[in-house]
Amino acid sequence: MSENYIARRLEVDGIVQGVGFRPFVYQLAKRHSINGEVANTSSGVFIHIEGPDENIESFCDDLTHKSPPLSRITKLSIHQEKIKSYNTFSIAKSIDNAGMATLISPDVSICEDCLHELFNPDDRRYKYPFINCTNCGPRYTIIDNIPYDRPNTSMKHFKMCKQCQDEYDNPENRRFHAQPNACDVCGPHVTLYDNTRAIISAGDPIKKTAEFLKQGHIVAIKGLGGAHLAVDAENHDAVLRLRARKHREEKPLALMSYSINDIRRYAVVDPEDESLLLSHQRPIVILKKRDANSISEQVSPGNRYFGTMLPYTPIHYLLLRCGLTALVMTSGNMSEEPIAIDNEDAFDRLSEIADFFLMHNRDIYLRSDDSIVRNTAGSIRFIRRSRGYVPTPVFLKHTVPQVLSCGAELKNTVCLTKNNMAFLSQHIGDLENASAYNFFCETIEHMKRILNIKPELLAHDLHPGYLSSRYAMEQSDIETLPVQHHHAHIVSCMAENLVDGPVIGLSFDGTGYGPDGSIWGGEILVADKKEYTRRAQISDVLMPGSAAAIREPWRMAISYLYDAFGDSYQDLNLPVLKEIDAKNVNIIIEMMLKGVNSPRTSSLGRLFDGVAGILGIRQTVCYEGQAAMELEMVAEEKTDEVYDYEWTSGERYKVLPKPIISGIVNDMENGVSISRISAKFHMTIIRMFSNLCKHIRTETGLNRVALSGGVFQNSIILTGIIRLLKEQNFQVFTHHLVPTNDGGISLGQAVIAAAVLGS
Ligand code: ZN
Ligand code: ZN
Ligand code: FE
Repeated sequence: MSENYIARRLEVDGIVQGVGFRPFVYQLAKRHSINGEVANTSSGVFIHIEGPDENIESFCDDLTHKSPPLSRITKLSIHQEKIKSYNTFSIAKSIDNAGMATLISPDVSICEDCLHELFNPDDRRYKYPFINCTNCGPRYTIIDNIPYDRPNTSMKHFKMCKQCQDEYDNPENRRFHAQPNACDVCGPHVTLYDNTRAIISAGDPIKKTAEFLKQGHIVAIKGLGGAHLAVDAENHDAVLRLRARKHREEKPLALMSYSINDIRRYAVVDPEDESLLLSHQRPIVILKKRDANSISEQVSPGNRYFGTMLPYTPIHYLLLRCGLTALVMTSGNMSEEPIAIDNEDAFDRLSEIADFFLMHNRDIYLRSDDSIVRNTAGSIRFIRRSRGYVPTPVFLKHTVPQVLSCGAELKNTVCLTKNNMAFLSQHIGDLENASAYNFFCETIEHMKRILNIKPELLAHDLHPGYLSSRYAMEQSDIETLPVQHHHAHIVSCMAENLVDGPVIGLSFDGTGYGPDGSIWGGEILVADKKEYTRRAQISDVLMPGSAAAIREPWRMAISYLYDAFGDSYQDLNLPVLKEIDAKNVNIIIEMMLKGVNSPRTSSLGRLFDGVAGILGIRQTVCYEGQAAMELEMVAEEKTDEVYDYEWTSGERYKVLPKPIISGIVNDMENGVSISRISAKFHMTIIRMFSNLCKHIRTETGLNRVALSGGVFQNSIILTGIIRLLKEQNFQVFTHHLVPTNDGGISLGQAVIAAAVLGS
C-alpha cells in the first residue's frame, strides 16, 4: 500500500435513490481504481472509498459533475475515515431505514436508450409499451409509500421474469434496481376496449387505436398520470365532437406530435421552445401558431397560440409513429373534474365521451396532469406545474419548520415544507366540486406519507368560503393560519428567488379576499415574509352579481362605464350597449345603486374584463380570464402611447379608473382600432404602475420589486413592466419555478406560515 493511500466517507443527500446513483458510483469507482462500498441510507447515499489520494480527488470531482441525469445532489459531505483495506468496490445492502427521508424523483419521459430499443426489431422489448430503465419511466405516480422499492409501487403486482431480474440485480446494467423494470413476458400490457367495455381483439392494439383515430373516433388513452382524450387534431369534425361531448366549449386543447419537425408544420418553435419540448419533463409548451396550418381552428379558437408537447411514454411514441401530424391530447375528464386514473373510473366517467379505450393494467396511484409552460420575458414561465416537475422541491433560503398550506380555490396546489425544501403538489384543479375536493384531501395524505412530513401549522386562504379554507378549519389537531391571498402571491415570488424582503410587491390578479371584505387584485403591497401593508390599489368599483360578473364581462363593462360617466353612459355609442339588452343593463345598475350582491373590487383582472367588454371583444366567457386573454391577443405589437391616468394619495395611492375608461371610450367613438386601443391600455397599466413603484421607492427606500398574480400570465404586461422597472434601476423578481397564477399560492402560504411559526 503506497504512502498516499487514504480513505474517505462520503454522505450524499438529494434525489439520489431510484435514479441509478449507486451503479453510477460503482462504475466511477472502477474507473478510478478505488475500493470500498456504496449503500442507500435513510437520507441519501453513503460511500466508503479508499485509494491513492489523487484517485480519491478525481473520483469526488466526477461524483458531482457527472452524476446521472435524474439525480440531484443537494448536499455532499466528505469525512476522514480509517482504512479498512477493501480489495474491491461493491454495492452494499441498504442501511436501516433507507429511503425514509430521501427525495422521490418525478415521472420522467422515456430516455434515448429505451427509445432506441423500443424501435429495434432485434431487441427483446421491441414495441413493448412499458419499456423503462433507471434513467426514465414512472416514479411519483406509481409510489404508494416509502422507501421507493418495488413492493411500495403499483409494479408490485408483476413478478419479474428471469431476464428482467438479472438486469435488476446487475450493477453494470442500465436497469439495475429500476423498480418499474418489465418486459412483454412479465410486465403490464395494454388492452383496447369499445365504450361498452368489450375487448377489441387486435394483434397490435396500439396500431388499431391509431386507425380508429384516423377515422375520426375519440379514444381515451391511459398514460402516465391519468387518461387523455385523444382525437386527430386535423379532423375538424372530430375536434368539434370532442368539445361538445366534454362540455369544453372554447378553452384551448393540448396537442401532441411525434417530433419537433411535425410540430414545426403548424407552430413556430424557437430554440428555447425546442429545449423545453425536448426536456425530460416533457411539458406542454405554448407556441405561436403558423399562419397557415392544417390543425382544426377549433383546437384553440381566438388564440394565437397552440399548447403542444412531445410524446413522453412508450405508448405515445408507438401511437404517434402511425403517421398523424398531431393528436389532441386533453385531460380525460368532464370539464373541471379531476383527470380519470382508474380503469373502472375511466369507463364510468368517459364512456359518454370516448368511442374507444386504450387502457393498461399498471395502476396509477396518484394522478398528475400535464405541466404547461411558456417561454416569455427571457425565462420559462409555468402556467401549470405538475407531471415531470412534482415532487421536485423548491429550495428555500432557510431551513424552516414543517408546515402544510392548502392553496386557494382555482388551480389549487398544496405545499409541504421540510428542512430547506418546499414540496408543491401536482395540479389539483379548481376546488369547486366534490371529486376535486376528494383529490385534494387524498393528495395531502399521500404527500405527508411519501415525504414523511408531520406539519406543525396549517396555512389557508383568508377567504372563509373556499373549500381549502374549510378543510383547514375542520382539522382539530393542528393550529391554522389564515393568509391574505396577495400577500401569499408576493411571498411565493420572493421565496423562489431566495429573497427575504421587504420588497415592493405588484400583485396583478383576478380574485383575492381582502381583510376589509372586498375583492382585491390590483395592489402594490410592501411585504416581507410575515407582514404586508397595502400601499396602492386600483380604486374600488362594484361587481354587480358577484361571481356572475366574472362569467359575464359585460357586467364589469357597465360597472366601469357607470363609474366614469354616471347616467350619461346611455349616450355613448358602444357595441356593449347595443349587444346587451337595455333592460338587463338597468337591472344591474339598480343592483349597484341598492348595493345588492355587488361586492367592491380593486381587481386588475376585472378591469381587463371590463375593457374587453367595452371594446366588444367578449361579453360572456367560458373560462376564467378568457376575455382578458383575448384582449391581449388583439393588441398591436408595440406602442408607447398611453391614456391619461390619475391617482389620489392619502393612506395609500388609489388609481382612478375613470380617466382610462374615458380615454378608451373616446378612442372607440373616434374609430381607433381595437388592437390599437388594447395596446394603449396595456401600456397605460405598465407606465402607471412603474411610476407608482418610483413613488413608493422614494418613500420607503426599497428598490426590489416582486411581480406575482394571474395577470402576469399576460406577456405584454410582464415584459413591459420588467422593461420599465429595469430602466429605472429597480431589481425585479419574477416567477420561473412556480406559476404566477394561483397554482403558486401554496408556496407563499407555506413560507409565511413557517416564518410566523419560526418567530
Ligand atoms: Zn430508459
Ligand atoms: Zn421480464
Ligand atoms: Fe390569485
